[in-house]
Amino acid sequence: MEKVEIFNSYLSYKDGVLHIEGVSIEDLAKEYGTPLYIYSASYVRDRIREYRSAFKDALICYAVKANFNPEVIRVAGEEGAGADIVSGGELICALRGGIDPSKIVYAGVGKTEKELELAVEKEILMFNVESSDELYVLNEIAGRLGRKARVAIRVNPDVDPKTHPYISTGMKKSKFGIDFETAKEEYRVARELPNLEVAGIHCHIGSQILDVSPYREAVSKVAVLWKELTDEGYEIGYIDIGGGLGIRYRPEDREPSPSELAEAVLPALEGVSAKLILEPGRSMVGNAGILVTQVQFLKDKEIKHFVIVDAGMNDLVRPSIYDAYHHIVPVKKRDGEHIIADVVGPICETGDFLAKDRRIEWVERGDYLAVLSAGAYGFSMASHYNVRPRPAEVLVEKGSARLIREREDYDYILNIR
Ligand SMILES: *Cc1c(COP(=O)(O)O)cnc(C)c1O
Repeated sequence: MEKVEIFNSYLSYKDGVLHIEGVSIEDLAKEYGTPLYIYSASYVRDRIREYRSAFKDALICYAVKANFNPEVIRVAGEEGAGADIVSGGELICALRGGIDPSKIVYAGVGKTEKELELAVEKEILMFNVESSDELYVLNEIAGRLGRKARVAIRVNPDVDPKTHPYISTGMKKSKFGIDFETAKEEYRVARELPNLEVAGIHCHIGSQILDVSPYREAVSKVAVLWKELTDEGYEIGYIDIGGGLGIRYRPEDREPSPSELAEAVLPALEGVSAKLILEPGRSMVGNAGILVTQVQFLKDKEIKHFVIVDAGMNDLVRPSIYDAYHHIVPVKKRDGEHIIADVVGPICETGDFLAKDRRIEWVERGDYLAVLSAGAYGFSMASHYNVRPRPAEVLVEKGSARLIREREDYDYILNIR
């Protein structure tokens, strides 16, 4: 018997059919078609409440890049979250989701002038600056617009978060942030620039981090920097420790809770009188969502079974680019035998797979499968590769479901409306 509740307590079988918050996933798949992203709003609410109770006075800025649907952002905002953005487009999504600009922080190594202008005009809380050039450009733009921009320097604590190299961001060789030695020089530069206000220190060490000890290491270094800067007369009101908390993808994974993270980092901030900011993305929405896909064909080769489904790497790219594992369960149980198969999509790439050599329950053409833990970096990384319209998205809460993004059509992709 599959225990899906371990991923998301709102996900369970009722009479052999998978339900989310009491709504039949089979019904949703029939109504809205597949591939289909479905999210549980209550799960997102619970997560932000956990963060808020673990970190009492902190500002929780939901990392929009994990899932930029404004209705998902709205749920986080209703529970008091702000937003962490990395582009102008994400700023628009955060605002559409009802997030107040005074709760928005903006990171990213390659912010364009246009994007910076928009964020300066909106008077967001803080720019997490990643290079010396960016400081000068931001100062110039703020001056031109007659505003002051609050900045934090994104420091690179040089700790190994022990995660996939592609999502490890806080090591010396990474393009992100500024190393500690140089950071102090940049703070001096920022202090002299008339249209900037030095407001914070930022760091973000990586993603899908399952062991909280690298956080303690990074935050301890940040605390030392805060004290040194404070001694030099800076008023650093914010310490932003980023996101990155890992989630359960495999049944055997152990997922650290926000309170474990708090226990690891709060002692390191003893004596630091700054407001704490966190930027969780994946851990807010990852297990809130699933991707539902329909079996198109079964193909048996001498050495392998293939289950060919209608969701491809353009819909969910994580298996292809990170070799990521996503648990897959049937939407309707057959209680038949199991097979070992590759679950693959329709895209013309060998790298187009959702699972390799996976033991799954026997399926037939037309069956629906639920790909779990797909709420983060699922739709947000989807593309139109092979001219495939991106999936629809549905948000479920307490027994009712609503469409929060329509399935695209070809006119939309080709921009010929
Ligand atoms: C991606 C990112 C996050 C969120 O990371 P998660 O692993 O999804 O929690 C937070 N802050 C910054 C700066 C990021 O780039």
